[in-house]
Amino acid sequence: MSVVRVGIVGFGTIGRRVADAVLRQPDMKLMGVVKITPDYKAKLALEQGINLFVPEKSIDKWEELGLKISGTVKDLIDSSDIVIDATPGGVGSKNLELYKKAGRKAILQGGEKKDVVESTVVPQVNYYEARGKMVVRVPSCNTTGLVRCIWGLKREVGVERVFAFLARRAADPADKKGGPLDCMELNPVRPPSHHGEDVKTVLKDLSIFTAAVKTPVTHAHVHMLLIKLSKAIPREDVVDILAGERRVLLVPENLGMRRTSDVFELSRHLGRPFNNIYENIVWLDSIYCDGEWVYLAQAIHQEAIVVPENVDVIRAMCTDVDAESSMNTTDIRLGIRKGIL
Ligand code: NAD
Repeated sequence: MSVVRVGIVGFGTIGRRVADAVLRQPDMKLMGVVKITPDYKAKLALEQGINLFVPEKSIDKWEELGLKISGTVKDLIDSSDIVIDATPGGVGSKNLELYKKAGRKAILQGGEKKDVVESTVVPQVNYYEARGKMVVRVPSCNTTGLVRCIWGLKREVGVERVFAFLARRAADPADKKGGPLDCMELNPVRPPSHHGEDVKTVLKDLSIFTAAVKTPVTHAHVHMLLIKLSKAIPREDVVDILAGERRVLLVPENLGMRRTSDVFELSRHLGRPFNNIYENIVWLDSIYCDGEWVYLAQAIHQEAIVVPENVDVIRAMCTDVDAESSMNTTDIRLGIRKGIL
């Protein structure tokens, strides 16, 4: 089996999780990560055997702290087949020049604009669009969560229209700058929010309207979806379709699943790295059908949900592994669940 050499630029919320996931894949080798701040996270990464690469001008600072570095940003790019850029929104597009110059493939994240990449990919839907491409984007956590949930119903029954209302987390747990605190903020006040347009970068012909409010929590987004199917089907069939979807986990209220905090307790009990919940968590009892209309509510762990998608897009861009085999390997290696809890 050939092994894909992966470099990760940006070792924050998403980058460290993707690094962990790459380390768990049998057909990938983590060449190292670019880290710009010499801190405890760098020290622990070194203890784990992860090679650190840093901007050339900061090498002295790292050496003074006794933190071993393996080279510069350029060294990591040159030694990798593909770079996952997980820097803050907007930085990845600027870094593209470095990857292009070195002739390396790159995956950008949802904070980058869709027009700087060749394709936006959620593997369940359009894995093969990434094949042969040099620059692909994995969309945001909200977009990925919406696409995964709508896709099964669209594929199996047909979807005429979607209204999605998003209660967004204000900031990630480690984010010192985000907000709001002690209030909710319409985001934006004048709808639609940008999420619907972003969903259409993957589900291109979908008719979707989204609106969002930022809530003063850090752990998850909650999506409330109203989906008009092409024809009415029984609630059991809706449940069956969602229960059959990859990376979607239905949770029953009578097992104590009611709040986003329950979702996080679940991650701890599952013993997941970084308390990752890679799955869309759909509240089984929220699924309500009225003729062609389906309502449901789901929680999205913003820090983790795009991790399996990044892993699959690496395979789509760098190997000839087919979509199902890639997603099977990813899901097994990360212990991802589906069906009803
Ligand atoms: P983050 O701020 O947690 O991490 C970014 C890391 O990149 C930080 O460690 C920072 O020091 C480092 N960095 C900054 N400039 C750099 C540079 N020039 N070179 C190398 N490293 C640099 O950000 P994040 O939340 O991980 O977001 C990364 C991307 O993923 C963004 O596009 C974001 O929109 C997207 N995304 C974030 C989430 C989320 O909820 N956090 C979810 C899905 C997608």
